[in-house]
Amino acid sequence: MLKKIVIANRGEIALRILRACRELGIRTVAVHSQADREQKHVRLADESVCIGPASSGESYLNIPAVLSAAEVSDADAIHPGYGFLSENADFAEQVERSGFVFIGPRPDTIRLMGDKISAISAMREAGVPCVPGSDGPLDRDPDKAIEAARKIGYPLLIKATAGGGGRGMRVVRSQDSLLESIDLTRSEAKAAFGEDTVYLEKYLENPRHIEFQVLADMHGNAVHLGERDCSMQRRHQKVIEEAPAPGLDADARRTMGARCVEACREIGYRGAGTFEFLYENGEFHFIEMNTRVQVEHPITEIITGIDIVKTQLLIAAGEALPFVQDEVRIRGHAVECRVNAEHPQNFRPSPGRISLFHAPGGPGIRIDSHIYTGYVVPPYYDSMIGKLIAFGDTRQSAIARLLTALDEIVIEGIDTNIALHKRLCCDPGFLEGGTNIHYLERNLERMTQGLRQAGRS
Ligand code: ADP
Repeated sequence: MLKKIVIANRGEIALRILRACRELGIRTVAVHSQADREQKHVRLADESVCIGPASSGESYLNIPAVLSAAEVSDADAIHPGYGFLSENADFAEQVERSGFVFIGPRPDTIRLMGDKISAISAMREAGVPCVPGSDGPLDRDPDKAIEAARKIGYPLLIKATAGGGGRGMRVVRSQDSLLESIDLTRSEAKAAFGEDTVYLEKYLENPRHIEFQVLADMHGNAVHLGERDCSMQRRHQKVIEEAPAPGLDADARRTMGARCVEACREIGYRGAGTFEFLYENGEFHFIEMNTRVQVEHPITEIITGIDIVKTQLLIAAGEALPFVQDEVRIRGHAVECRVNAEHPQNFRPSPGRISLFHAPGGPGIRIDSHIYTGYVVPPYYDSMIGKLIAFGDTRQSAIARLLTALDEIVIEGIDTNIALHKRLCCDPGFLEGGTNIHYLERNLERMTQGLRQAGRS
């Protein structure tokens, strides 16, 4: 088993990794920025190393600093969490070259799946259905681009191969704006990701976002843990996630899950991963794979009873998966909402000191959060300050419990989006289930009307 792990992240996920390490008797090293000295996991870790100033470029993304922290603390592995360096193949490679275990897939797998074009072609080869598209990078010759677009048909989406986090995408509804939009997407991608390769994809008008969780070990075993529905999005960012996906039948789950597992075997996948699909008219279309643990992993943990982060650690230690597919059972329903330090109506980030925090509780409630009374939300990072997760035997009961918990939670001193979550939990469309990825944006004005104060609607 691994003895000591560097947690190369912050916030709730750093705490989540720390908890899994504790359970397995693994020592922990928290590496943090100067702004994060008071983080809960830093206090709880066996050791901590400050690796740089507040700016993530100089701390959480600073590869030499993370590696030297691992050296000086004599750690044997590094867990990257999500975001930051988690999907950086060069980092994974340097971790391994420096003699540490990277808790994630092999660097070449991260590289393969990190480039959207190579990921799509690998998935096509593995028999996973994809969105119809340009089959490779878009030609720089305008005539060829127009021809490629004509073949796919409008509306279409221009996507940057290096894109991520909902950025590097543009919808085109007719040929008139095609070339200009391609140029714009290229220059934005160049500025944001240092790479201007783009490709075209059919734009699906009203899909749902459904993703499959997989786990694979180094011995050729792979399983899927069913799916999550993450269609409730704002600006391509997930707001509420649930598992299983409302209305998806067991056959569809089995078939798609099996395809994902097969794809894992084909690419020699290792660790936890997620296959993301758009689901429209009963069909799945692969959009990308995330080669790391995801924010929304707890809902899958709750309905399967499988600890995903702990399993990541076991896999990294070289152990075989402790269960086979037939032993993965899905029970009940789980819903997660992302609690952000932001104004519930205009979404402006709201950093600052939390003057009072009360956690909700009761049957089926889980809260993954690093906040506490007196904690200062720094302005430098993502605005998510925690996740509130509810489980119930039925979807209805999970949502009712989530609403009860949202009524109960107290976060004072900063703005949060709790009031918006409460509205969502009472929204007829959400309660019915199966809404598409545009639902929230299309109803946002109605749902945010009059929302002002954190936690009060
Ligand atoms: P990122 O890497 O930025 O997360 P994704 O490819 O996963 O990008 O897409 C993010 C979101 O963009 C999806 O969840 C969906 O809402 C939307 N999207 C992506 N591809 C398409 C498409 N072909 N048609 C319609 N919407 C899409």
